[in-house]
Amino acid sequence: MARAINFSAGPAALPEEILRQAAAEMLDWHGSGQSVMEMSHRGKEFISIAEETEADLRELMSIPKNYKVLFMQGGALGQNAIVPMNLLRGRNVADYVNTGAWSQKSIKEAKKYCAVHIAASSEDENFTYVPPQDTWKPSEDAAYIHICTNETIAGMEYQWTPQTGDTPLVADMSSDILSRPVDVSRFGLIYAGAQKNMGPAGFTLVIVRDDLIGQALPVTPSVFDYKLQADNDWMFNTPATYPIYIAGLVFKWLKRQGGLAAIEKSNIAKAKLLYDFLDQTDFYTNAIRKSDRSRMNVTFRLQDDALNEAFLKAAKERGMVQLKGHRSVGGMRASIYNAMPLEGVRALVEYMREFEREHG
Ligand SMILES: *Cc1c(COP(=O)(O)O)cnc(C)c1O
Repeated sequence: MARAINFSAGPAALPEEILRQAAAEMLDWHGSGQSVMEMSHRGKEFISIAEETEADLRELMSIPKNYKVLFMQGGALGQNAIVPMNLLRGRNVADYVNTGAWSQKSIKEAKKYCAVHIAASSEDENFTYVPPQDTWKPSEDAAYIHICTNETIAGMEYQWTPQTGDTPLVADMSSDILSRPVDVSRFGLIYAGAQKNMGPAGFTLVIVRDDLIGQALPVTPSVFDYKLQADNDWMFNTPATYPIYIAGLVFKWLKRQGGLAAIEKSNIAKAKLLYDFLDQTDFYTNAIRKSDRSRMNVTFRLQDDALNEAFLKAAKERGMVQLKGHRSVGGMRASIYNAMPLEGVRALVEYMREFEREHG
């Protein structure tokens, strides 16, 4: 059976060599006689996996010592509540930048816990750009300011890191984490669901500066209290052991690729190939401001929506799957996370050129 060229937005494709390694280790991990799925999270085998996984991530992202790394559960949407519960720290206002579908979900949830001030928004142009920082109007007393670094549905991404002074910057990086180097010290907190660029769905990564934790609202569920999780080496309760093990394999794979600077180069090349193609035709269009286009999720529409079904069908016949855009926006979306090789994007562009020739 041939593997599909999988453009899924998430849960997304994983490098084949990792799936093969996981398969080879399925019944007996490193002579333990157990699958990783069957291990106690407090046994020495899994503890060694957990420690190595965290250490590899710290190395990849150059995470400073004064930041805690937590492998939690509840997804990025869980963090939309968990962040305000933990980071309000006696304040009652939080700033949010509204760049689209995922920001809006964060805003809606945060409103249950505090007053939300919209510091900037691109709603006026249907969320097709990232508001430049000189247009932001932050509040005086915000507990933090929240952004979504990559709007997965629209295909729009910050290509810069905001300067927020003393106000901690909080970022939902679910769909572009580990796709490029980031200066973690510019953030108070970073969170990301696992299933776009790290591994199978099941854990949520939180990277948080240690002076921000320890003042959670009293109603905060204990498992979602960053301080309790940090004090218990993120094992206050049972973590998502198997997804974390797979993420550990992904982190090692990333190191073998040359780390985040190398993977960024590859991601730039992949995105450029696709956007350059989109830019020289009128048959396909992309709505996002050029400077803010996502390297991870490339969205496009066909000249005529009536061709969508034919486009998807013939793509599938060529082994290319999950190109359909999010139901809320329609059109197409090619998600080209770290695990998508350049050849996969090349095959897509070739196919798109052919389809245009036949139908344009
Ligand atoms: C996928 C995604 C989410 C949703 O994460 P869950 O793990 O389903 O809670 C949130 N934010 C962004 C930016 C995403 O891409």
